[in-house]
Amino acid sequence: MQNSGNSESLTLIKNLARENIQKLTPYMSARRLGGNGDVWLNANEYPTSPTLTVVSDLNRYPECQPKAVIDRYAAYAGVSNTQVLVSRGADESIELLLRAFCEPGKDKVLFCPPTYGMYSVSAETFGIECQTVTAKTDWQLDLTSIEANLEGVKLVYICCPNNPTGNLVNTEDIKTVLEMTKGKAIVAIDEAYIEFCIEHNKTSWLKSYPHLVILRTLSKAFALAGLRCGFTIASPEIIELLLKVIAPYPLAVPVADMAAEALLPEGIAQMQARVLSVRENRSWLVDQLKQDDRVVEVYPSETNYILVRFKDAKPVFKGLWDAGVIIRDQSKQIGLDNCLRITIGTKAECERLIEVFKGL
Ligand SMILES: *Cc1c(COP(=O)(O)O)cnc(C)c1O
Repeated sequence: MQNSGNSESLTLIKNLARENIQKLTPYMSARRLGGNGDVWLNANEYPTSPTLTVVSDLNRYPECQPKAVIDRYAAYAGVSNTQVLVSRGADESIELLLRAFCEPGKDKVLFCPPTYGMYSVSAETFGIECQTVTAKTDWQLDLTSIEANLEGVKLVYICCPNNPTGNLVNTEDIKTVLEMTKGKAIVAIDEAYIEFCIEHNKTSWLKSYPHLVILRTLSKAFALAGLRCGFTIASPEIIELLLKVIAPYPLAVPVADMAAEALLPEGIAQMQARVLSVRENRSWLVDQLKQDDRVVEVYPSETNYILVRFKDAKPVFKGLWDAGVIIRDQSKQIGLDNCLRITIGTKAECERLIEVFKGL
């Protein structure tokens, strides 16, 4: 008989899940949160899409690490092709690091909230303990507290520029963390937004720090969040370890074809043009917001989003939402009460947001 599931047997099924999964709150992506908008400024996406083509047949399995994608990304990043791994978004590389380096119930992962939510969600999924060290009030690393809490830590995530605050983490502080963790832990710098401030990228540090890993993505400045394609840059030894735990076919053939095309010189030039346009719209939006006395602070940003603290964020979020302008509420994160995050859209979208905000 089908569909005979009464509530008792459903409870039983739920109880079959691993205990940490029963307790897990999944990552609430902007997509899952929904909304009924026509101006989407909640997921740090680029507002328009590049056009790319599929050139390969689909009857064969893909290469595990498509050579054109790896070679072109390595050339773009200025590293050797043995230092690059491609995966289903940077989110998958966050997971791969946990799977390769952290023993559940034994090793810990350290990161510094307020920051990107997937570090904790991925760690909890695998049953790996999170050691959080809250960032200081200026959102820089609390080095003393990090040093005091390194016991058992195998992996450190540093998001730079940080999501959702938009700031860069001090270069010297990251170096200090790399020194503290030498021979003990992997330090992963999440550079999802680095194209918006490329002069701050840390790839040249790989020579000096064999335990350094850099995470990248095509989702932000390359405007390809829907493609699901990200990169890990590290020593060939670390890349080899990650290749042991990655799925046999992490990228679909169309994804590999399109990623390879996006990484041609023309695609990179388009990405650089996007960065300029985001910066221009960002500075316009920041100026507009700063003129309003309901705004407490617009935090400086090196990215395609800004974090704004309002006197009272709730009516702003709701008022924009009701008018179809969807932004991201960050007020539940530690230290971010009354803070909302706004992705930089097209000029017209920024204007629309300001128009609705002024009318609230
Ligand atoms: C968007 C984002 C990612 C995930 O990138 P995908 O490649 O889309 O999985 C990783 N880290 C940070 C900080 C992000 O904002």
